[in-house]
Amino acid sequence: MTELVFYYHNTLPCAAFGVLEAAIKMHGKHKIITQFDEFSIDAYVLVDSPTSRIVAIDFDNTITADVDFYLNLIDAYRSRHWEPVVCTLRDDDNENLLEIHDKLHDAGIRVYTTDGKKKRAFMLHEGISVGMWIDDYFPAITQFGTPLLVRNGIEY
Ligand SMILES: [Mg+2]
Repeated sequence: MTELVFYYHNTLPCAAFGVLEAAIKMHGKHKIITQFDEFSIDAYVLVDSPTSRIVAIDFDNTITADVDFYLNLIDAYRSRHWEPVVCTLRDDDNENLLEIHDKLHDAGIRVYTTDGKKKRAFMLHEGISVGMWIDDYFPAITQFGTPLLVRNGIEY
């Protein structure tokens, strides 16, 4: 079974992370590291807005790396009144949307397609601040030199 390494580096309590941490413990094979080492990290868990209940999950190489795990995680978030959404760099081509909804067994999740734009700026432009991001590729979320990366231990 695949083992996924999640990176999380944050000193303040984060309830959204608590849900993910419980799911990872329950799963048993995935693990969390707190040291930034881009060669061993499969998914970055970045805390953003402390007041948002939205958890933005990437699709390619994040959800697709373990679909069953993420389906359970989506349920776990929903049962605790979080809103998990998919945020992908793909465009809103019908085939993309069909593939994503199909993989997620039509879980009724909101899907945001940024068409290659940096995700954080795109979502803020849509009026959505994200509480926590889960993504295999952190440069998709924001450019270098932003407080988000400093806060999450990627840049100093
Ligand atoms: Mg990805």
